[in-house]
Amino acid sequence: MSTRALIIAIILALIALPAIASGPRYFKDAVPYPRIKPAPSAGKPLIVIDPGHGGKDPGAVGQKGLLEKTVTTSAAKELKALLERTGRYEVLLTRSGDSFVEHDDRVRIAREKHADLFISIHADSTNGSSTRGASVYTLADRARNRSKRIVNGQNWIMDVDLAEQSDSVGDILVDLAQRSTESQSEAFADILLENLEGKTRLVGNSHRRAGYYVLLAPDVPAVLLELGFLSNSEDEKLLKTKAHRTKLMKAVRRSVDEYFVGPGRPG
Ligand SMILES: [Zn+2]
Repeated sequence: MSTRALIIAIILALIALPAIASGPRYFKDAVPYPRIKPAPSAGKPLIVIDPGHGGKDPGAVGQKGLLEKTVTTSAAKELKALLERTGRYEVLLTRSGDSFVEHDDRVRIAREKHADLFISIHADSTNGSSTRGASVYTLADRARNRSKRIVNGQNWIMDVDLAEQSDSVGDILVDLAQRSTESQSEAFADILLENLEGKTRLVGNSHRRAGYYVLLAPDVPAVLLELGFLSNSEDEKLLKTKAHRTKLMKAVRRSVDEYFVGPGRPG
């Protein structure tokens, strides 16, 4: 080896050594796996409640004319009050008045504020008038690619810096974040259904999965709660009453407590 070649080899080794010592750059922040989503801030968990529809979009219309957007607004406000009363949570609504908010703005609010949980509230409708009961939706597996496309298409900022990663590594990181988020969404949905059981009628197959846009954030656990069917006159009558909505929202509040604090929390 010539002196010149030796010098070049030493220089190359000096450049490469720190990189080798610290491991592949793209995994530095990704390992251990839970670090993809940073630990929640020391403050209270932030819960974003999303009253479905609003403004020019009334949502479903009941047999007696009750509008879905009216039910979801009331229920969301009632839930906000119940959660705030515990003193344990920060709570934000995606809309508080009768305004129209785009789906992506609803998701953006949750992501920008680093929400710990996103609860979208809706009321169902179907052609038959006999179907009734509540159900809970989480993101379907098949929607995962759609979520990934939105991450890329809208330049959503992930907690890991995707811009610095190659496409395939970026995909892996989004995938890991999604899986972690999905298992948290599933866990909350299970708790929620347990708490709703006995408090209200549930539809058969009450844990459902769909690709709803508001569930697509790859890094915010999210569920969509259908309170009942406005196409069923009994459900419509119940959802119109504050007593019934409060019963449902108390079940949601208990579920939030179990999810964040653990079971057996008083109140
Ligand atoms: Zn709806």
